[in-house]
Amino acid sequence: MHDVGAGWHSLLRWLHERTVKANLPVKYRQVKEKFGTLRIYCDIDETQLPADVENPIEYQTAVDRLDRLIEHVERLSSIICEDCGNPGRTCKPNGKYYMVTICDDCETKLKDTKY
Ligand SMILES: [Zn+2]
Repeated sequence: MHDVGAGWHSLLRWLHERTVKANLPVKYRQVKEKFGTLRIYCDIDETQLPADVENPIEYQTAVDRLDRLIEHVERLSSIICEDCGNPGRTCKPNGKYYMVTICDDCETKLKDTKY
């Protein structure tokens, strides 16, 4: 389901661990790259919430906590190379038209490819 480069898998693992630890049941809809950074589309799975969080306020709390975690991970993806996980930056690599988050080494490798 992870349609993103290996460099970001640690971010997704971190997110998963945090949501498990916080008892946040997450229903992932889509994980992808857009404009060079990570986008995570998901919801709180209401059917999996513990009985004591069935009321609307607790549900909203769960949503807010999940939103904060997602925001954090998406922001980090703008400084972590999608290919290898080293520190990177969001840019258009060597004159290409699309945005990626990439490190210097991976950008150099990209230069060698013909497409
Ligand atoms: Zn890299």
